[in-house]
Amino acid sequence: MTNLVTDVGETVESNPDSTAIAYDGEELTYDQFWTRAGQFAKQLHDSGIEEGDRVGIYLPNLPQFVTAFYGTLRAGGVVVPMNPQYKAREISHLLADSGAEAVVSLADNVPEVLDVLEETDVHEVVSVGADVEGATEFDDFLAEDTIDIVDRADDDIAVQPYTSGTTGTPKGVLLTHHNLGWTTRTNSGVVPGEIQPDDKLLGVLPLFHIYGMSVVMNGAMYAGATYYPIPEWDAPMVMDLIESERISIMFGVPAMFNDMINQPDADEYSFDSLRFVNSGGSSLPIEVLERFEDLYDVQLNEGYGLTETSPVTHANTPEARRKGSIGQPLDGVDAKVVGPNFETMPRVEKGPVDEEETDLDEITGELVVSGPNVMKGYAGLPEANEKAFTEEDGKTWFHTGDVCYWDEDDFFFVVDREKHMIVTGGYNVYPREVEELLFEHPDIADAAVVGIPDDRRGEIPVAYVVPTPDAEATPEEIKQYCLDNLAEYKHPREVEFVEELPRTTTGKVQKFKIREEDEN
Ligand code: AMP
Repeated sequence: MTNLVTDVGETVESNPDSTAIAYDGEELTYDQFWTRAGQFAKQLHDSGIEEGDRVGIYLPNLPQFVTAFYGTLRAGGVVVPMNPQYKAREISHLLADSGAEAVVSLADNVPEVLDVLEETDVHEVVSVGADVEGATEFDDFLAEDTIDIVDRADDDIAVQPYTSGTTGTPKGVLLTHHNLGWTTRTNSGVVPGEIQPDDKLLGVLPLFHIYGMSVVMNGAMYAGATYYPIPEWDAPMVMDLIESERISIMFGVPAMFNDMINQPDADEYSFDSLRFVNSGGSSLPIEVLERFEDLYDVQLNEGYGLTETSPVTHANTPEARRKGSIGQPLDGVDAKVVGPNFETMPRVEKGPVDEEETDLDEITGELVVSGPNVMKGYAGLPEANEKAFTEEDGKTWFHTGDVCYWDEDDFFFVVDREKHMIVTGGYNVYPREVEELLFEHPDIADAAVVGIPDDRRGEIPVAYVVPTPDAEATPEEIKQYCLDNLAEYKHPREVEFVEELPRTTTGKVQKFKIREEDEN
């Protein structure tokens, strides 16, 4: 049996003395990390955590997250990662819904956990960073000795992350050892020559989210590479670290790359140690990709995925890439674009298409995927599962909710999220197209377009724009710029300048928040 945790056990045997985790000037070797994970597992076991029991990890990116993650799996438990920015009301849903019995929390957040204890089955609270009443400090929690890996079947659940809740209540996603083990091995293959023990991976993506957890942390631990956890995004600090530590692999989200290229001293950095850089989580504006590549002389490859697919389904690689595309499906993943009756949509000859010249409704549909990385289902939500899957030709297809088209070379292009599409006076406007144009404007640092209710047209597109510090253009001029470059019905009827856009920690613009603010 090989799974997410046995894989790492083998890595530890072959690389006991290499550095597993580097944080704040301290290093943990694979041997040390694995011992701590085993001690954590032993104490969980002694506290009554059995196979399949849920353990919440409510931490920013810290070495203890990695230890608790692999320790939980070693004890046969299931990890429930939780966003450390969540407050009591939000974690109470995650803890109660998952039935978590233990929680590892940042000391500062322990009061939030204690606040909701009665609504949950949690009987063990472990604090990181300080001794707090009602919790056991992390190092004190570690047992004297370790335990062996508790056997789990491939089809057993390893991790239960929650969807980011950009709409509605977060859903628990059931990911098996097979889903995540397969993903880890396959993702390593997306990096040229695979991830190697001498690679250094930047840990800026939050570990509570599948992208940082699976692609970066699991990827590093599987390969025996060094993982650099970074609790909070801070562009100058991260850029200094890439240089001083000679980071070789960076996975990030477009908002991070955009932030890097907009630093006043962006062109003073030399990132010659970077050998692979990937962007995912939301669409990467071509403008950002090109400026990043010009500045740092390294390819910025876009990939795509979802929590429900562990996460990656598509990636561009140095050998096969096309700007503006999410890339080709990973080997072993089937993907296609379907219309409302699950009919396959025609492929375009070679993407990307000129969106001005093309009737997107003729070629776009929903992206559906099938493969070993697709979740078992949403926890306890039969209706959501009913909607999420379609059985056809002996395959189970997962509905991504993303509007895409595909080309004859198997490159896929995301036009937008289905729920973001704006219908104005009977026309469909995909905000991403307008956002791409806004990003091309020299006075614009960040932009989002949302649909605002309108009595006459149903909805109208409105642009929220973060101007660059030395911007001169007025909102009226930006509106005119859109009118000059887009079909009339697509142009934002209003352009509002804002200081920043509400984003999740994984870089997704929270469009519902912009809409709410607009209503107030
Ligand atoms: P999550 O479950 O938080 O990982 O969110 C998954 C969603 O992120 C997808 O359904 C897409 O809407 C979006 N997404 C991820 N990668 C990309 C990408 N490269 N381009 C456009 N959207 C993306």
